[in-house]
Amino acid sequence: MRGDSMGPMHQVPEDWKTGLVVVAHPGDIEYEAAAAVHRWTKQGKRIRYVLVSRGEAGIAGLPPAQTGPLREKEELTAANAVGVQDVEFLDYPDGRIEESLALRRDLARAIRRYRPEMVVLYNFHDTWAPGRANSADHRAVGRAALDAIADAANEWIFTELSGLPIWTARWAAVTGPVVTHAVDVTDSIEAATESILAHSRYLAALGSSPVPVRARAIVEAATAPIEGFPAERAVGFELFYIRG
Ligand SMILES: [Zn+2]
Repeated sequence: MRGDSMGPMHQVPEDWKTGLVVVAHPGDIEYEAAAAVHRWTKQGKRIRYVLVSRGEAGIAGLPPAQTGPLREKEELTAANAVGVQDVEFLDYPDGRIEESLALRRDLARAIRRYRPEMVVLYNFHDTWAPGRANSADHRAVGRAALDAIADAANEWIFTELSGLPIWTARWAAVTGPVVTHAVDVTDSIEAATESILAHSRYLAALGSSPVPVRARAIVEAATAPIEGFPAERAVGFELFYIRG
C-alpha cells in the first residue's frame, strides 16, 4: 500500500486527448508509468514518447555503440506494447545529461510540435525513497522538462522556436515518491508486463533472477494498490496544474 494518508487520493484527470511522456532513458517509462499509458491509449488518447538519451551507458560490459541501438529497439517494442507508435530520441549522452538551456529548448520544441495536454514525467526528486539517491539524468531531465512546459508557452524565451506556435499544456503528472493522484490500471497489467519484458537484454544484465520474474516484480511495484484509491491496481502520480 502506497500513498499519502493525510488526504483522499484523487483520480488523474482523463478529459484530454494528447499526451507526451518525457524521460531520460529506455526503460524509465516501463518501470513506472506504462500501465497508465496503456489505459490511456485504450481510451483513444494519442501519446508520444520523447527519450533524451538512448541509454547507451546502461549495460555493464557492452559498449555504448552496441547498447544504444539495442535499447532503442527495445524501447520501440515496449512502446508498441502499450499502444504508442511515436518515439523520439534526442541523443543526449546517457549518464551525462545536464539540466541545460539546450535541453529546455529541445523539450520546448517537442512540446510545441506535439501539443500535449498532459505531460508525463519520471521522478526527478533527489531520492527514490528515503536513503536511495535518484540518478543525475533523471533529476536533470524531469526538472528541465517541467521548465520546458513553461518555455513552450512563452514566445520570448527561445525565439529560435518562433516557427512553432506557442503551446500550453494543462497538467504534468510525475511518477515517484510523491503521490497526489492515481490511475486505475487493473486491466493494464498484462500489457505493462509485455512492455517491460521488451527490455529483456537490459533486464538480463541487471542481475541473476530470471527476466520474467524481474519484469513481474517491476510491474507489481509500479501498480501496487494506493491508500485511499478504490482500485485493485493503480499507478500514482504527483499532479502539477499548468493551466485551467
Ligand atoms: Zn533511467
